[in-house]
Amino acid sequence: MKVHLKTYGCQMAKLDTALVTGALKTKGYSLTEHIKEADVVLLNTCSVREHAEQKVLSHIGQLKHIKKQKPDLVVGIIGCMAQRLGDDLLEDGTVDIVAGPGQIPEIIEMITKAISEKSRQVSVADNIRKAGPQNPALEDFESVYDTADKDIPGQAFVRVMRGCDNFCTYCIVPYVRGPEISRPVDKITEQVKRLADEGVKLVTLLGQAVNKYKSRYIGTAGDKTYSLADLLYKVSEIDGIEWIRFVTSYPQKDGFIELMQAMADLPKVCNYLHMPAQSGSDRILKAMNRHYTAAEYLEMLDAARQIVPDITIAGDFIVGFPDESDKYFEQTVELVKKARYKNCFVFKYSNRPGTTADNRLQDNIPLEVKKQRNYRLLEVQEKISEELSAEFLDKEVAVLVEGPSKKPHLNAAESQGRPQLVGRTADDWIVVFNGDESLAGQFAKIKITKTSPLTLFGNQI
Ligand code: SF4
Repeated sequence: MKVHLKTYGCQMAKLDTALVTGALKTKGYSLTEHIKEADVVLLNTCSVREHAEQKVLSHIGQLKHIKKQKPDLVVGIIGCMAQRLGDDLLEDGTVDIVAGPGQIPEIIEMITKAISEKSRQVSVADNIRKAGPQNPALEDFESVYDTADKDIPGQAFVRVMRGCDNFCTYCIVPYVRGPEISRPVDKITEQVKRLADEGVKLVTLLGQAVNKYKSRYIGTAGDKTYSLADLLYKVSEIDGIEWIRFVTSYPQKDGFIELMQAMADLPKVCNYLHMPAQSGSDRILKAMNRHYTAAEYLEMLDAARQIVPDITIAGDFIVGFPDESDKYFEQTVELVKKARYKNCFVFKYSNRPGTTADNRLQDNIPLEVKKQRNYRLLEVQEKISEELSAEFLDKEVAVLVEGPSKKPHLNAAESQGRPQLVGRTADDWIVVFNGDESLAGQFAKIKITKTSPLTLFGNQI
């Protein structure tokens, strides 16, 4: 049996894909890149933006045609969109399996039944916000299967938290991934040790608001409630792991100084902080139910830079949130100028059914204005990124090599016929250089000879 598995979505979704892939392989399924030779097609979906859902719906439309020629093809939708839409996804007769993010441990059984009984299989949480504090099946699933990145050697994501309790008014995550649950310290460290034994050098600890991590653990230090900072000290002790990142941080003062101190103290913890501000307007931040002001956010960045002077910071913004006037948008531009991010991700607001913003606010900013604001913010950021990247010229950096660069960055003379490789520094700068493909998954030292806003170029030394 061959399975084609496609992922739409964030790192959480990619991590779920890694677990499902592990389960499929253990049960004798093989993976195929080609839909045409697949017996089962699984789409691991995202509901965070309307655009992501539209892409999945259009993919289901294509599968409908394929299924006409191949009626035995089993189509499964897993992940956030499965949880949000449930059996509505079965309506046009293309989809056979619907499994929410909390039900992925059932996926093998669901596929088996869908094939042998030719029956539709649906498993989503009934009332996801009332789910129990832990999900033992999910914890087991997470502990058994390998989460090492199959595309990027030497790297792995490790989920430390599930769900979210923040209820930012625009966000669907609390409704599709359920309440905030921190995974046990010992399960996380066991998983990281296994990954280190497999040759993983960089682990990225994942949570929707990862700095809210809190878990009681009775270890050599006695009975103690671990924060993310405490967890970083613990994970740092694991031999073989060289770099540790954590994403995504919520701008909360609680525990922030301790977290930055852990970053300063622990050489393995990368000096990289991804902490979305979302807006620079206090009025919009309040409407988003984000619990900080623009001034408080900037104070946190100042504190981070005082404790970790060479820290690199990345941000996220939503433009065109309901009632975002020109004045409020300009406040966001001002914040971006002051924050001096390495890079920031900018999204145009799209309302998600079932969220507070969808229920109470009108999506009243025209698409054209959202596009202009998106463009303007990226333009402001690009200038800052260009200034920051220029500081690397003639410097030496260590990178963890990811593999061949997907798009050519260097011309034929510059690449001298050797493969163009891409790697990242500990603080997440992308570096392109010529080298042997066997370097993938290894560290390399690069002297930077050219810079652009988002990419550094250099030679291996
Ligand atoms: S912190 Fe806010 S934006 Fe992030 S997942 Fe939770 S609700 Fe969504």
